[in-house]
Amino acid sequence: MTAAARAAGREPASVTLTAVSKTQGSEAIDAALSAGLRVFGENRVQEAQGRWTERRPHLPDLELRLIGPLQSNKAEDAVALFDVIETLDREKLVGAIAAAQDKLGRAPRVLVQVNTGEEPQKAGVAPRDVDALIASARAAGLTVKGLMAIPPADEEPILHFALLAKIAARNGLSVLSMGMSGDYEAAIRLGATHVRVGSALFGERNPV
Ligand SMILES: *Cc1c(COP(=O)(O)O)cnc(C)c1O
Repeated sequence: MTAAARAAGREPASVTLTAVSKTQGSEAIDAALSAGLRVFGENRVQEAQGRWTERRPHLPDLELRLIGPLQSNKAEDAVALFDVIETLDREKLVGAIAAAQDKLGRAPRVLVQVNTGEEPQKAGVAPRDVDALIASARAAGLTVKGLMAIPPADEEPILHFALLAKIAARNGLSVLSMGMSGDYEAAIRLGATHVRVGSALFGERNPV
């Protein structure tokens, strides 16, 4: 990560590595913690609870980021566990997160997930609807910090990263979660502040 940041002419400290720990067993998690990693990304609320609830009290500087789709009936669990929810992508979830915040007295930072490729099967708000969703999340009291995207697997990611950066800039947002094992270097060149890396760090995922 440091090398990729330097190669892009950026301060290494301006890019955070989110270790994507989904499906990893205890040994891999403990090894990552021993190596000093403290920022982890998880896809599913329940799986994350199993992996982190007992570890968390011993790790005051741990940061947990939800990077998978969130159902509104899991919003309360997500607000209770995560420091950052990267996958806000619809109005209904704004209300569910706001209600959970009020109830729990805890307000995770929020990123809006953008479906930059407008893929029907993929989560994320369409680019034309992002500004309105950000405005409504802010009005509801959510702490909106930035944007997240997963470009289409079969397209050059650079255009998608550039689009995400442009939408963030016009909305005054500073956090850009983009780039995975295969394309994090390009994402860093295009301004990523957080790259989400799984297989390049842990090796191939265990079968679910
Ligand atoms: C699994 C996952 C990643 C990590 O993917 P790798 O290609 O293994 O680095 C990043 N972001 C999201 C949203 C994921 O689900």
